[in-house]
Amino acid sequence: MIPLIDLKKQYGAIQEDIVEAIREVLDNGQYILGTKVEALEETIAKRLGVKHAIAVGNGTDALVLTLDAFGIGEGDEVITTPFTFFATSEAISRVGATPVFVDIDPLTYQINPDKIYEKVTDRTKAIIPVHLFGQPADLNSIIEIAEKENLIVIEDACQAFGATYDGKEVGSIGDAGCFSFFPTKNLGTIGDGGLIVTSNDDIAKKLRKLRVHGSRKKYFHEDIGYNSRLDEIHAAILLVCLKEIDDWSRNRINLANYYFTELMDVEAITLPVVLPQCIHVFHLFCIRSKRRQEIMDALEKAGIQAGIYYPQCLHLQKVYEHLGYSTGDFPVAEIVSNEIFAIPMHPFLTNVDQDRVIAVIKKVCEKE
Ligand SMILES: *Cc1c(COP(=O)(O)O)cnc(C)c1O
Repeated sequence: MIPLIDLKKQYGAIQEDIVEAIREVLDNGQYILGTKVEALEETIAKRLGVKHAIAVGNGTDALVLTLDAFGIGEGDEVITTPFTFFATSEAISRVGATPVFVDIDPLTYQINPDKIYEKVTDRTKAIIPVHLFGQPADLNSIIEIAEKENLIVIEDACQAFGATYDGKEVGSIGDAGCFSFFPTKNLGTIGDGGLIVTSNDDIAKKLRKLRVHGSRKKYFHEDIGYNSRLDEIHAAILLVCLKEIDDWSRNRINLANYYFTELMDVEAITLPVVLPQCIHVFHLFCIRSKRRQEIMDALEKAGIQAGIYYPQCLHLQKVYEHLGYSTGDFPVAEIVSNEIFAIPMHPFLTNVDQDRVIAVIKKVCEKE
């Protein structure tokens, strides 16, 4: 069996360091928001060249708290992509604002900047570009629009820790960046975790308050906040993983290049496109085919895991019926969601396993 991702192998490779990190936390006797969390925040802020990093309970909360900290809520509109994990738009809805969707670029599957302007209204407050599958969205164009229209840019970098745009790490480029450390993300822990980066002092201060019930001083509350904190154990594990992340990303890129070389000539599939100004960290390796079902069936039969990210666009989700969208509104996103699927990709995948995946795909596609 070849899995899509292999967390056991990943942790196996750094098991001793992880166990030691966990033991340190146990010995410390401090389990939530302590020295490990501080060290994690400092390490990530320094790496990304931002003034602040604020660790929270998960990536969804990172988005919710950030929107809240910027004062976005009832009556406001936030522009985003219909082709992402639901949490992106859920966060917008959670703070009482309305997600406004914009179709994606057919090559990169990221929000299409050319189509953003027509959706900007008096109520638009922010844009949330998502760095989908590990590739940065087209940030220069997005930020240009945001500056002209006076909008906030919140990067959803939950799938793209370490990816770069014009040499700068994602998350550090907009007004704030949100990360998830869910176990399957390219930088993940053994449970839930999230983090926000920003160089805006006021927003950072608000976020630090919001994550602990709106209080700066214990038992004195200035805001209605949240309980969204990171555990020491996860921070300790993430500090170990952070030492590996660049090697892991390099492995992913090399493995992606192997897929590119071997699958280049297969006409029935479309490979991912990497923009020249970007480093894509391949959180997922997603390919497209009109023959998706056939290929996925053959992979399954061969003991190879594949997965569809994402089978339904957000504008067509039942929960958003009241927004009045219908099929055909975002034709690119809809076609992509009907054709896309992920094949195995993780830092410990081998070329030998890739050869098996490649052989199955080729065999199906060579048949008429
Ligand atoms: C995973 C993910 C989130 C949410 O992160 P959680 O830690 O699972 O809450 C948000 N946006 C995107 C694009 C994601 O992939």
